[in-house]
Amino acid sequence: MSAARGAAPHPPSGRAAVLAHLRERIDAGRVGDATLVLLRLRKLASVRDMVGEAGVARILESVRERLAELVSPGELLAEMEPGTYALVCDRQDATEGFAERAVAAISRPIALGEALLYSPANAGVCAIEAGVEPAALLERATRALERAMAGGPGAIERVSRVRDDHAVADWEMRSLLEEAALRGQMSLEYQALHATSGVPTLKLEALLRWTSPALGRVSPERFVPLLEESGLIRTVGEWVLREACLQLAAWRESLGLPVRVAVNVSPVQLSLSGFEQIAQRVVHEAGCETAWIDLEVTEGAIVRDFSRMRTRLEALAAAGFKLVMDDFGAGYSSLGQLAQFSVHQLKMDKTLIAGVPADPRRAGVVKAVMALAEALSLDVTAEGVESAEQAEWLSRFPGIACQGYLFSRPLPASAVPRVLRAAG
Ligand code: C2E
Ligand code: MG
Ligand code: MG
Repeated sequence: MSAARGAAPHPPSGRAAVLAHLRERIDAGRVGDATLVLLRLRKLASVRDMVGEAGVARILESVRERLAELVSPGELLAEMEPGTYALVCDRQDATEGFAERAVAAISRPIALGEALLYSPANAGVCAIEAGVEPAALLERATRALERAMAGGPGAIERVSRVRDDHAVADWEMRSLLEEAALRGQMSLEYQALHATSGVPTLKLEALLRWTSPALGRVSPERFVPLLEESGLIRTVGEWVLREACLQLAAWRESLGLPVRVAVNVSPVQLSLSGFEQIAQRVVHEAGCETAWIDLEVTEGAIVRDFSRMRTRLEALAAAGFKLVMDDFGAGYSSLGQLAQFSVHQLKMDKTLIAGVPADPRRAGVVKAVMALAEALSLDVTAEGVESAEQAEWLSRFPGIACQGYLFSRPLPASAVPRVLRAAG
């Protein structure tokens, strides 16, 4: 799929050719400093109005010739659609100014009879990285091209490496998220809970993941608040519950084990009227029972809106869900209110667990929480267990579950059955 220097100007066409070339390169480890450049001619439609179809064909032919001169053997020139081209070159664009040369080459006036036609262009550039799927690279370059088009004739936009998501403005992240929700860029990972001995239990927590073509993997701590602000969390949250339940039904069926999944629920979802009916319907439609599902609600959310949350949690408990107070001990003092809630389980926040056994204050709080949980007959999970020393210290509390990198990282669904078999 490569055009040699000066080759006949008939590049392979379409997205498939570009994806195949990228795949071949990535599989062969020919990534190095390689760059993907997407180029688009501006104003092709108005040129067509002026000079007709034949004139446009002449321009496109000339553009192909000029671009073919820029690529070497083993590189790629493909026509995505009339007037839009993909180039893959082995050089690093930043030092070579490859995109500048390509834009300049095709923006030069083209003689058509007496007239000189001028059709300026834009480029979106992205570095090819090992470990990034071809479709994601193409998507990144497309986004860069769209930004460049908005920047006026001749503008070039680069996505060199995955951008640091903290450097992205909220408004941009929000618009990327809207698209993500529509285009299926979200997925779930599952983290197993273990006994302090390290033996896995049959409980998992579903955790939302977003891999943006433009930004790479973005932390839920960054994007969940934006989903909440924009209200998108309603649809995304419902998708999370459905996806986790479909997966749970499949595991229960194939493994024959009484697996449970915990799903995080945002306060924005909880404030939706009729949320308990929606949640029940989703669970049943996915072939599950509400009693197999834990709903995790953060302590902060409950404390902020005490009376409304209490009614909502009661309704969810009555519908059969088990309720977990998440991030317990993260800085709110709801100990007094706890007894008034129909929660079944506490998840102790990782900031508390990070302090044991060395920090006597935090160790003291953990002991107090355990005593309280016992008095209220609540199950407890310790979150963020990262060291054997922490697990050993926690083993003094019979029945406590551990969730943390020491025993298990969040895993894609395909890797979960192996863990569950070890538990069952
Ligand atoms: P969370 O519900 O408290 O989830 C536990 C977080 O701790 C997860 O972070 C998990 O990957 C991380 N973790 C697990 N073990 C360890 C460990 O040993 N050390 C450390 N330092 N961290 C550990 P993650 O996946 O980044 O999620 C962050 C938060 O985003 C979640 O905290 C939850 O509040 C929110 N979130 C995730 N998925 C969803 C979702 O589907 N819906 C809603 N509303 N929120 C979600
Ligand atoms: Mg949670
Ligand atoms: Mg938590």
